[in-house]
Amino acid sequence: MLRNDQLDQWDRSTFFHPSTHLGQFARGEMPNRIVTGGKGVYIDDRDGNKLLDAFAGLYCVNVGYGRQEIAEAIAKQAKELAYYHAYVGHGTEVSITLAHMILERAPKNMSKVYFGLGGSDANETNVKLIWYYNNILGRPNKKKIISRWRGYHGSGLMTGSLTGLELFHKKFDLPLSQVIHTEAPYYFRRPDAAMTEEQFSAYCAKKLEELIAKEGAENIAAFIGEPVLGTGGIVPPPKGYWAAIQAVLKKHDILLIADEVVTGFGRLGSMFGSDHYGIEPDFITIAKGLTSAYAPLSGSIVSKRVWEVLERGTDELGPIGHGWTYSAHPIGAAAGVANLKLVDELGLIQNARETGAYFLKALRDAVGDHPMVGELRGEGLLAAVEFVADKAARKLFDPAKKVGPQVATALLKRNVVGRAMPQGDILGFAPPLCLSRGEADTVVSATADAIKDVAAGLG
Ligand code: PLP
Repeated sequence: MLRNDQLDQWDRSTFFHPSTHLGQFARGEMPNRIVTGGKGVYIDDRDGNKLLDAFAGLYCVNVGYGRQEIAEAIAKQAKELAYYHAYVGHGTEVSITLAHMILERAPKNMSKVYFGLGGSDANETNVKLIWYYNNILGRPNKKKIISRWRGYHGSGLMTGSLTGLELFHKKFDLPLSQVIHTEAPYYFRRPDAAMTEEQFSAYCAKKLEELIAKEGAENIAAFIGEPVLGTGGIVPPPKGYWAAIQAVLKKHDILLIADEVVTGFGRLGSMFGSDHYGIEPDFITIAKGLTSAYAPLSGSIVSKRVWEVLERGTDELGPIGHGWTYSAHPIGAAAGVANLKLVDELGLIQNARETGAYFLKALRDAVGDHPMVGELRGEGLLAAVEFVADKAARKLFDPAKKVGPQVATALLKRNVVGRAMPQGDILGFAPPLCLSRGEADTVVSATADAIKDVAAGLG
């Protein structure tokens, strides 16, 4: 394929890439990758490479690339009605249908779906509605939100505050004062190696209790968490974690937001992470897997308990002062309807469960014993390999060595895309849910070779 050098120059000179080292990119010190096509689990780039995308974009292309059913549903909707708004009781057939389909799949205590465009704005909606809820209930001080270190909930002002990763706070004057962080449920990095998973869960619950006692339960509105920590390292919770945390929240009348932007619609091998771990949320955040990223769409699913208070609020105050021009955009909704149908028809949730288990076992067999592999973990089609300098002592590498990014680069040389997670030396996998066993084998053998390469380089 011929390279269009002007496009490359425009990329360097005009395009602001998110989560990118801006100086290095502008100076041409790091490569770009311009993706031109995709089919199944593979993407093609402008340099003629065909890559197995074992991160499904940003863990979002759950049904895989190139699904004509979704493309056609989007085209049909665009031709019939590209847009109408949802304010003051208006709507479109397709957005109402999608809300119904989501609630059919959601936990039974859920009541309504508010549609946004991405995970960040959906979490912004959740926090705003929670503040409104407590004001209507006459609890104006009950406003703080507890998040976890290493949680990821977006990168806006509020949602970047909820995110518990240093890079998203530093020099942005975040977190905002209404957000406080508690212990990450990160068993591998537990303070005392002798702790069992259950003991570590109890420790996390105790830390939460202490934070609530310090701040005062009367000042704390909600707790937000991903069923499985995602961008913070792909870390499934230790045994008993969610039960222990929910007991504390119930005791102090603190609402729970399950951020299921990654885990919603099948990634863990269950419809929602909430089903998977027995979580009973007051809000569920959805995005990515809702449309498999064929069009931008997110949602805040609101529970019956919260909804009743919101209704009371509008009886008191008039129409709710919340909405975006593009809330419930019909193109996104058309993608969502076609996508959720496809997830069912192709049995992708079952495949995530079965191929996920196969993939994790194959990874363990191939690299689990490698001295550089400190932990290998996963659930459904989410998996991570964490690299350490000393396995027995759980001693981490010097971050300056960039071992995680080195392995991701070595993997890419073998035409497989994994993700070097932003904090720690962690290689993440979240392939499309249609991954086959043969494709899983390809990822595993490329990973084993990549680790060998990097280990040799490190001596
Ligand atoms: N919540 C979770 C759990 C996420 O993983 C993400 C993005 O990766 C977000 C929220 C933010 O979503 P968006 O990037 O669509 O704003």
